[in-house]
Amino acid sequence: MAAILDAFLSEELDALRQKHLFRNLRVLEGQQLPEACFDGHSVINLSSNNYLGLNTHRRLVDAAKQATEIFGVGSGAVRTIAGTMQIHMELEEAIARFKHVEASVVFQSGFTANAGTVSSILGKGDLIISDELNHASIIDGCRLSRAEIRVFPHKDLNRLEEILKETAHFVGKKLLITDGVFSMDGDIAPLPALVELGERYGAILMVDDAHSSGVLGKDGRGTVDHFNLHGRVDIQVGTLSKAIGSLGGYVCGSRKLIDFLYHRARPFLFSTSHPPAVAASCLAAFQVLREEPEWIERLWQNTRFFRAGLDRLGFNTGQSETPITPIIVGKGDLAMQFSDELFGNGIFAQGIGFPTVPEARSRVRTIVTATHTQEQLQRALDVMGQVGRKLEII
Ligand SMILES: *Cc1c(COP(=O)(O)O)cnc(C)c1O
Repeated sequence: MAAILDAFLSEELDALRQKHLFRNLRVLEGQQLPEACFDGHSVINLSSNNYLGLNTHRRLVDAAKQATEIFGVGSGAVRTIAGTMQIHMELEEAIARFKHVEASVVFQSGFTANAGTVSSILGKGDLIISDELNHASIIDGCRLSRAEIRVFPHKDLNRLEEILKETAHFVGKKLLITDGVFSMDGDIAPLPALVELGERYGAILMVDDAHSSGVLGKDGRGTVDHFNLHGRVDIQVGTLSKAIGSLGGYVCGSRKLIDFLYHRARPFLFSTSHPPAVAASCLAAFQVLREEPEWIERLWQNTRFFRAGLDRLGFNTGQSETPITPIIVGKGDLAMQFSDELFGNGIFAQGIGFPTVPEARSRVRTIVTATHTQEQLQRALDVMGQVGRKLEII
């Protein structure tokens, strides 16, 4: 190895170890289930984004198997050359119908959907106004665009309106961008107010519904449906990797928007399209959302049960309004210790500290799914109470 690289890596890794931020990857044996085997330990799994249990749903598995048998394992090219298969087009049509929009385009991931869309629509001379807690893929898209970036404090509508007033005479395009559900706190964006402000000040509005699709709104249509704002949000992003159970991201909007992204979004143009099995499993997932509403019902029953239990124990669960429930403990060290002790006692809930969240709001993040049993959730609550009291968090 080049000595300069070796020295750089050693220094960076030592610094992480000193700050107790060096983490080994936890390795899952077998399926992503509510009770699963990580690093050789059977644990109640409160760390996956598999909201509806669709990762292992029979209809998705069968669809993936069948598509592989018929179409093979790979698509062989990028979408714009030879890699657009019929099944890719069917999936985009299904997503557009699901979201009640004209058209949709699928990307390799939610990350590339955000980064590719923001960076192709905005450019030098444009302005992006972004919530401070927006996802990393939005931030990267903003930087790649070379537009001017203004960040407003989380959900602070007064500050946002001030920025919109200050920039009222800005000549370029303006994009107002927000997560629909925020991934570290589980709170919902104030979408009705954002729509009004966007309309009043002439800003394009983009919402990233990665954690709301399959979770909020009728059949899991997301925050736009939850707030009944159909037709008033210009660009909706979603992921196929969380509640949908497979892999990918998508953008929804007008036919013109999608035609533009087909020609300009760089991950779409320069990275190979999904294997047929991925597209087929996603198609099956949207059928399941329509035909098996019980999964979303169970997700919310479990969410209410678990949150009530945590609140009764006296934990600080912040502003959560969705199945993502943080347990805010303060210092980063304590969050990691809490997470490690929980793991040792059979509960997998990820510790999260700086720089993902501010140091003083370090936390353990929990996500319940539709497939947890109430017995499993009660067992998790009992352990969390014991460990929480031992560490004097409650
Ligand atoms: C997870 C997530 C993404 C990325 O989605 P992937 O499909 O995993 O790439 C984008 N935005 C938000 C808000 C997310 O939580």
